[in-house]
Amino acid sequence: MTDLSTFSRLESEVRSYCRNFPTVFTHAEGAVLTDESGRPYLDFFGGAGALNYGHNHPVLREALIAYLQSGAVTHSLDMHTAAKARFLETLDARLLKPRGLSYKVAFPSPSGTNAIETALKIARKATGRTGIVSFTNGYHGMTLGALAITGNQSKREGGGISVTDTSVMPFDGYLGRNVDTIDVMRRYLEDPSSGVDAPAAFILETIQAEGGVNVCDMDWLRRLQRLAHDVGSLLIVDDIQVGCGRTGPFFSFDGSGVQPDILTLSKSLSGYGLPFAVTLVKPEHDVFSPGEHNGTFRGFNPAMVTATAALDTFWADDTFAQETTRKAGLVRERMESLARRFGGEVRGRGFIQGVAFDDPKAADRIVAGAFERGVVIETAGPRGEVLKFLAPLVVTDAQIAEGFDAIDEAAEAVFTKARPVSSSNGPEVTA
Ligand SMILES: *Cc1c(COP(=O)(O)O)cnc(C)c1O
Repeated sequence: MTDLSTFSRLESEVRSYCRNFPTVFTHAEGAVLTDESGRPYLDFFGGAGALNYGHNHPVLREALIAYLQSGAVTHSLDMHTAAKARFLETLDARLLKPRGLSYKVAFPSPSGTNAIETALKIARKATGRTGIVSFTNGYHGMTLGALAITGNQSKREGGGISVTDTSVMPFDGYLGRNVDTIDVMRRYLEDPSSGVDAPAAFILETIQAEGGVNVCDMDWLRRLQRLAHDVGSLLIVDDIQVGCGRTGPFFSFDGSGVQPDILTLSKSLSGYGLPFAVTLVKPEHDVFSPGEHNGTFRGFNPAMVTATAALDTFWADDTFAQETTRKAGLVRERMESLARRFGGEVRGRGFIQGVAFDDPKAADRIVAGAFERGVVIETAGPRGEVLKFLAPLVVTDAQIAEGFDAIDEAAEAVFTKARPVSSSNGPEVTA
């Protein structure tokens, strides 16, 4: 029997994901986590999107070990290192140049929320404005600037102070299919008496991941960019969770023609689960003076090494993106089948997909049942009503089938058990 008492005795109550997956993990490879009893679990959660290339990818591990063995620099503040030069050149050559994009790279402290803080500070300084427009159900991290643009009330209140200088606008589809929320925003922003001032920036996730797998239409995104520029604001795309190939191509907005003024990346950027983040900013908005934004761990070279190796391994051509898109079709079929059988709506694109179940408690119960059957998967959405598929992109066809078979079983058990409970005045049903 696994002993979890060390964690309940010594670790803060703030611990979170571990509560859904009550075991002690010891090893991991690809899309499989193994616990101390040797039991394997299929990982359909992928480190919340930090493990797009799977756990311990052998090519990235080899690059990391070779780097460490060589005696090269591990920590360097933001001093020049050979590892950083290689990362910058590779990012430019593999991601930016082929798309006709030009960005300066700011290295924030190595987590997503720090990339967001950096983006907000740049936008405010570049425009001389204080306000930020964020979107319903948006999620951008847990530090105070990021909390101010986060939809979720309990997370926002966790900051313990009022978070200000932001306005929330309706995301694509938020007011129903027939309401064009770009028109709504334009009305607010063009009326000098609406109470909403033109912001420093609009910030969004093109697919709201934590917020319930809400996808914005590419045309909506293009029109948002136009609106932002019409009112003198910058457009910030937070591609922290749905970038790095999650939707198929490297950037979630690829193919839209949109060129964000500021772009944040983290989670799968290092490729190996090592902490790493960047804030990309168009050269004309690169307004920080030297050291105006700083941090001790902005030069974590091992992460730059694995990030470079990941760009070389997976993004030299579009084979990997196409393979993600092909496998996403398999995932779609299984998601559609869950929604058909148990009642719900399928959302998402590429390798981020969800079923928003009609029964808001179902997803949580399916997560528990799936774990008992050897699958790690999480929920999303305002009430945790969305079962969210976020497996590493390297998961095999057979693993997809095996994982969804377990999820189907778990869902069946949840929905057959749930029925007698919900029909409160009916006769008691015995199995
Ligand atoms: C995870 C996430 C963040 C925050 O990243 P951390 O590394 O957890 O600070 C910000 N934006 C999005 C879209 C995310 O998914």
